[in-house]
Amino acid sequence: MNRRDTLKLLGAAVATAAAPVSLVRPALAQAKPFVLPPLGYPYEALEPHIDTATMNFHHRNHHNAFITNLNGLVDKYADLSSKPPEEILSNLTAVPEAVRTPVRNNLGGHWNHVFFWDMMTPGGAKQPSGDLKNAIDGVFGDVDKMKAALKAAALGRFGSGWAWLAVGKDKKLAIFNTPYQDTPHMDQGAGAVIGIDVWEHAYYLKHQYRRGDYVDAWWNVVNWDKAAANFKRAAM
Ligand code: MN
Repeated sequence: MNRRDTLKLLGAAVATAAAPVSLVRPALAQAKPFVLPPLGYPYEALEPHIDTATMNFHHRNHHNAFITNLNGLVDKYADLSSKPPEEILSNLTAVPEAVRTPVRNNLGGHWNHVFFWDMMTPGGAKQPSGDLKNAIDGVFGDVDKMKAALKAAALGRFGSGWAWLAVGKDKKLAIFNTPYQDTPHMDQGAGAVIGIDVWEHAYYLKHQYRRGDYVDAWWNVVNWDKAAANFKRAAM
């Protein structure tokens, strides 16, 4: 190898070594404070009640879209990565108007979905018990009547949204629905006990237009232990 060849090789090595450095642009170093939290169970764990494909798309695509959007909003609204989501969602008028709607939709969507994944479990308790059951019986008559009221709220939400059993500001259990990705504490100031996503993406692959069938199937995977803990916290 003569000297010219050696220089050529060195030149190639320098060019190769330099290439990755040039890829480290400030945009790549930008903080991404929001991450998609893992489900506490596999995608297929809620079969046959909630199907694997729906869980997969719902978590990896629909929920993840909120995460991507939130990371894109952090530069425009720094509080997003420092304040608790509940604090922001409870007082949206404090959010600058320029980003208020995307914060409402994406932070609301993120909060709702984290709540929803925790709200479901394979092989959990099949009925409420203890203080939660007593409160349900006191307000609705019995658990079946509460379920019927929640189903009515789910079916009564025109278009996309959520149906909730929640503890209101008056500390009483109530059922209502919210549009889009609005959260229970956003307008009602309520503490969610259980909540069901009634966007079509939550049921269309398995049930198509039959939202009621999805609600009926969903009761089989409700995590009543989690609901009891939510109730205890919200009722304090
Ligand atoms: Mn959803």
